[in-house]
Amino acid sequence: MPLEALQQPERAAAVAADAFALMRELFPLVRSITGNGVRRTLDGVEAWIPLTRHEVPSGTPAFDWEVPQEWNVREAHITEVATGRRLVDLRAHSLHLVSYSTPLRARLSRAELEPHLHSLPDQPDAIPYRTSYYRETWGFCLSQRQRDALAACGEGPFDVVIDSTLAPGHLTYAECRVPGETEDEAVVYTHVCHPGLANDNLTGIAAAAALARELRAGPKPRLSWRFVFAPGTIGALTWLARHEAELPRIRAGLVIGLLGDAGALTYKRSRRGNALPDRAAELIVPAAGGRLVDFEPYGYDERQFCSPGFDLPFGRLTRSPNAAYPEYHSSADDLDFVRPEALAGSLQCLAALVDAIDANQPWRNLSPKGEPRLGKRGLYGLTGGAGPGQFEHALLWLLNQSDGRHDLIHIAARSKLPLPLLARAARALHEAGLLAPADAPPSMQPEEEGTSP
Ligand code: ZN
Repeated sequence: MPLEALQQPERAAAVAADAFALMRELFPLVRSITGNGVRRTLDGVEAWIPLTRHEVPSGTPAFDWEVPQEWNVREAHITEVATGRRLVDLRAHSLHLVSYSTPLRARLSRAELEPHLHSLPDQPDAIPYRTSYYRETWGFCLSQRQRDALAACGEGPFDVVIDSTLAPGHLTYAECRVPGETEDEAVVYTHVCHPGLANDNLTGIAAAAALARELRAGPKPRLSWRFVFAPGTIGALTWLARHEAELPRIRAGLVIGLLGDAGALTYKRSRRGNALPDRAAELIVPAAGGRLVDFEPYGYDERQFCSPGFDLPFGRLTRSPNAAYPEYHSSADDLDFVRPEALAGSLQCLAALVDAIDANQPWRNLSPKGEPRLGKRGLYGLTGGAGPGQFEHALLWLLNQSDGRHDLIHIAARSKLPLPLLARAARALHEAGLLAPADAPPSMQPEEEGTSP
């Protein structure tokens, strides 16, 4: 299986350490839904894996939306005029400016400045993350302590500088495609639009890059895997609009992010509830100490993939879900908040999910009347009486269940045997001429009696 090595703790820990180095490099960049922050982020990812980049012009329609103007910023700060003291500076933290703030150079009183300030009174040291993509305005985000220090300056005045541009340009996204044996595809999708936040979204970016790198280095997968790095919401919509003709080939998709906090793994089911990634997660995530939750139309880009006009087989893997931890969308979600061992555990789980999705297919027993003789084909212990080992059990389960309707995930769940072992046994039976791939129905969903979604 292509990611079998990454399923092991030692390899996962080493890859998580690499992923951390990438996150450290990407952390300071001022990312948003468009602009050079995204491009520089993709530069960092491209040091790991080859990317095909797409630049989509502002104004391009994407269903009910359109690609917005491109936003870039060089500097932004607030200075107390009387002392020349810089009270807030984008250089100190990329969260200090509301994303998509319009350009400004003005001398303002505190009363004029106040409506444009955002802080978290309950978390006085944390800088909040705020955006204003679709309403033209400006603002600064600061810790409550900084805001108190600003208030201590009285009425000011303050020199406020936002050296930004909001102009026709492009939305940038990128893909890494790892070709498989078939044209059927699977997708790993992560958003790339958040500035100085580590768990959300640098862990998703680094994990997607790591999975793609490992997949390229290992044995060729069965499915063709596409890793998509795009801004949230408008990026997913733009990707869907530009790749609509290819969507029927997609057998499974995983939206990933928030993979390094101390919370348990959380798999969110697709809108369908029993699609291929949901069934793979049912097998793998609880065994990794995680849980499954049902679909809801709130969250990350699974909202777009699982909208009724697409209803794609996309689930989502995080640790804590979005908005479910106090550090979420604030400067407290920094590199120290991310735990290397949690990221390594997430990578192991993702590797198992990718492998299960990739290997899953129904087979057909070509000698279904009675048990075929495995011994004469060198597949079974030649000495009678010793009882079968795990591999022989896997052969027997595969031969018994492979009537063209039951796929590997079904057999793994029913037999309680590890899916990688079953995949290996299926290959051996295939080579011995005893199993042939059965034509999979489009959903890869075997007709099953009495299974719950
Ligand atoms: Zn977020």
